Amino acid sequence: MKNRHNPILISACLLGVNTRYDGTNALHKEIIKKYSHKILIPICPEQLGGLPTPRPKAEVIPPVPSLKKKWKVAVKVININGRDVTKEFTNGANEVLKMAELLGASKAVLKEKSPSCGVNRIYRDGKLVEGTGITARLLKDNGIDIEGVGL
Ligand code: SF4
Repeated sequence: MKNRHNPILISACLLGVNTRYDGTNALHKEIIKKYSHKILIPICPEQLGGLPTPRPKAEVIPPVPSLKKKWKVAVKVININGRDVTKEFTNGANEVLKMAELLGASKAVLKEKSPSCGVNRIYRDGKLVEGTGITARLLKDNGIDIEGVGL
C-alpha cells in the first residue's frame, strides 16, 4: 500500500551514521530537513550484506545490467585489495529491497558516488563516471523512486 504515510528509505550515512567504508558519515542536513515530515528508515546495503566498517573501498566492474527482482550475478564488485565482494553487495541490495517491500516504501534517497547507493555517479578506476550502484539499480528496476544526493 502506497500513501503519504509510507516511509522513505535513506542511506544511513546521509543521516550522520558512520557507515562509510572509511568509518565516517556523509551527514546531509538539507535532505534531512527536506524530508522532516516523513518517516526516514536508515539503510546501509554494504553493512546489510555483511561487510565490516571500516572496509576496503570497492568498485562495480561494468556493465551493470538491468535485472528484475533479485540480483542473480552478471555483475562484479571488487575491492581495492582485489577481493571479489559481489556476493556481499548483491546480498545487501536484496536485503534493502526486502525492507522496501516489507515497509511499503516507494522511494529511496541514496548517497551518490557509492558502488551501492550511487544513482547517477559511481567511481570506476578511481575516476567519477556516469553509472548506478548495485542497490540503486535493483530498487529502480523494482519500481522504487530513487533520488541521488551528494554529487
Ligand atoms: S553510501 Fe550506501 S553503502 Fe555507502 S555507507 Fe552510505 S549507506 Fe552504506
